[in-house]
Parts: sequence; C-alpha cells; structure tokens
Amino acid sequence: MNLHEYQGKEILNSFGVNIQRGIVAHTPDEAVAAAKKLTEETGTGWHVIKAQIHAGGRGKGGGVKLAKNLDEVKEIAGQIIGMNLITPQTSAEGKKVHQVLVTEDVYYPGDSEPEEYYMSVLLNRATGRNMIMYSTEGGMDIETVAEETPHLIFTEEIDPAAGLLGFQARRVAFNLGLSGKAFKEMTKFVYALYTAYTKSDSSLFEINPVLKTSDDRVIAVDAKVSLDANALYRHKDYLAMRDVREENPIEVEAGEVGLNYVDLDGNVGCMVNGAGLAMATMDLIKQAGGEPANFLDVGGTADAERVEAAFKLILKDPNVKAILVNIFGGIVRCDRVAQGIVDAYKNMGNIEVPIIVRLQGTNADIAKELIDNSGLDVQSAVEFQEAADKVQAVLA
Ligand code: GDP
Ligand code: MN
Repeated sequence: MNLHEYQGKEILNSFGVNIQRGIVAHTPDEAVAAAKKLTEETGTGWHVIKAQIHAGGRGKGGGVKLAKNLDEVKEIAGQIIGMNLITPQTSAEGKKVHQVLVTEDVYYPGDSEPEEYYMSVLLNRATGRNMIMYSTEGGMDIETVAEETPHLIFTEEIDPAAGLLGFQARRVAFNLGLSGKAFKEMTKFVYALYTAYTKSDSSLFEINPVLKTSDDRVIAVDAKVSLDANALYRHKDYLAMRDVREENPIEVEAGEVGLNYVDLDGNVGCMVNGAGLAMATMDLIKQAGGEPANFLDVGGTADAERVEAAFKLILKDPNVKAILVNIFGGIVRCDRVAQGIVDAYKNMGNIEVPIIVRLQGTNADIAKELIDNSGLDVQSAVEFQEAADKVQAVLA
C-alpha cells in the first residue's frame, strides 16, 4: 500500500527519524495557517508547498515550490491545490491534487552548503536480506544515476536476524563523505530509518533527498513509503492512511469483490484461474503478438457469480477488444465453469467484444460442447495456440 509523503513522514517521525516539519492543508487559507504555525514552532521564514499525490518527480512537474512570505504561500497553494499534476511518474493525464504539505524551509544558507543524498531501504529478494541503497547523488532520479554513474550508488546488506550493525551505519556515513557532527547525525539517521522500516513492516522506503543542512543536521526531505499490505493487520492505525483516490478505480473495485486484478495497457482482456497460469497466459498472449489488458486471477472457484464479476471488471477498460478466458479445471470442473460463462453472458446481455474460451482439464470436452451449443458469440478452443490464433483473428 502506497502512502503520501506526509503520511510516510509521520511514520518516520514516530520512530525517531528526523524529518522536514510540515502540516497538511486543503485550502490556501489552511496553508497560510499552517505556515504561521510552522514559523512559531521551527522559526522558519520561508516555506515549501508540496503537492501530495502518489507519484514522484513532483518538483519537475511544478508541484513543489518555495514561498518566501505568507502572500506567496497563499498564492502558490492556490495554484497547486486542484491542479492536474503531470510528472515523469504519472500517466499523461496526470493526477489531481487534493492537498498540499506546507513545510519548513531546510535549505537555508549557513556555514556549509546543504547536501542532498539518496537513500532507500528495501528487500533484496535474491539474497533474502534487507538492503540500504544510498548515493551521494541525491535529489535527482536514481535511475539516471544508476545509468550514468553507477559507481556512485552503494549498498549495505543487512541480515534480518542480526539487524543493522554499528560498523554498517558508520560505513554509510563514511561513503557519503561525512565527518564530525554530520557523521554522527548520519549514523543515527540510518539506525532510526532501518528500525522504522522493519517495525512498520514496510516493503520500501525511498528518501530522496536525505538532506545534510548547512548546520550539519541530517533530515528526510521527501518520503516514499510502501507498506506491506499483508502485514496491515498488525498496524490498524496505518489502514486509515489508504487513499483510494490515488489508486486505479478498477483495481479498487476488484479488491472489493475479492478478485486479483492488475490493470495493464494492452487490448486483450484475460480471465484466468491461478496467478501462475495468469502470468503464463499473459506471456503467451504477447508471444502470439497481442498485448494483455490486465492480469486477472479469478481464483479456485470460477462460478457464474465470480465469472460475471470478472467480465464486468474487464469490460470497464475501454481498450479491451477481445477477452480470452483460460481456465484449468482441476478442482473446479470445466463444465461448471463453462456453465458459469454462459450464465454470466446471458445475465449481462450486452457484451460486444468477442470472447474466446479455452478450458482444459476435468470434463473439458463437455465444457466445449456446452459453449459451442450455447448459441452465444463465444468461441471455444482446446489448445492454447488455437485460442491465441482465434484472438489474433478477431483483433485483425
Ligand atoms: P519530488 O520532486 O516529488 O521528488 O519532491 P521532493 O520532496 O524530493 O522535492 C523536490 C525538490 O524540492 C527537492 O529536491 C529540493 O530541491 C526542493 N526542496 C524540497 N524542500 C525544500 C526546502 O525546504 N527548501 C528549498 N529551497 N527547496 C526544497
Ligand atoms: Mn524526491
């Protein structure tokens, strides 16, 4: 589950990670009130107005701006709230901004220059260990750093049983070129960050930038936090942080009816039972020259009700030009699935895209007969190639 920057920072703060202070605002007046409060609390003269959407690169899209007085706070908040923010990480249509985070300015001048670093904490699935990935090149997107100057990205692997060891935290600070107070601050920061990551059951922290201020404080200026949805039962308070406005509406609806659906860009809708078969089916569609419009696992019980719910979801995507049903009847018999498809089709009545059904397994032959004799615009196939050819034919 992805969070907004302000929510991610709340979690970081609760585990003692230093953050750039901020207050959420939904209107320009709220932004001004927030700015005044921040000045009282932190002494900041300038403020940063930051769009809260589930996408990075907001600065590039005009969603992060510096305000040097309260008039500017009001004016900039007015521009950003309600805007359609397009960043390198959103779709071409962008995302509507419902709220901004008003923050203290932490880039103030001082004895030394503020420095931006990159730091993330994530699971390395290949080694089964947690990993801190960090770089001196903060503030820009890490993919570019990885491409152009890969030697400036460091990693620290952490054994989950032993936890982060002292020398590892010090190595991070050393590789970032720090000394003195900044060095100590960084080791504390890394500790707190790693603790927050494990205790919150997160699957990703990305802090870009981590800032060393001109007076050698180390703070999180940005926070991209993804929580492990499977662990949310242990964090009831985090559940309320979900913002469904930021999620794909078809995926939200699928979740409500208990179907595993992931929206994709292609034009062949897929209905499959089992995640493995669903992924294999998507591969095969591509191999046959098509593009899957979605990943959809209807699960073990592909009865008429679930099949109908699945058809409805698939048809919500306007790009879908054909639907391929690929179901293996192991526990569930193929004839029951076929009957489910026929019933759902009749119930819905207005399916305009061609449907190709491949049923394999128990009672596959009876299922094929059922489909063929239904009198509906549904084509059946036994072998996958046959199904793929039929999809190709209807798309052509
Ligand atoms: P992103 O563009 O979505 O990654 O948003 P960030 O939170 O990383 O902010 C983008 C950029 O805004 C940062 O890299 C900084 O250059 C700038 N920025 C953020 N906070 C401050 C601040 O307190 N003062 C100043 N002057 N700039 C800031
Ligand atoms: Mn950032």
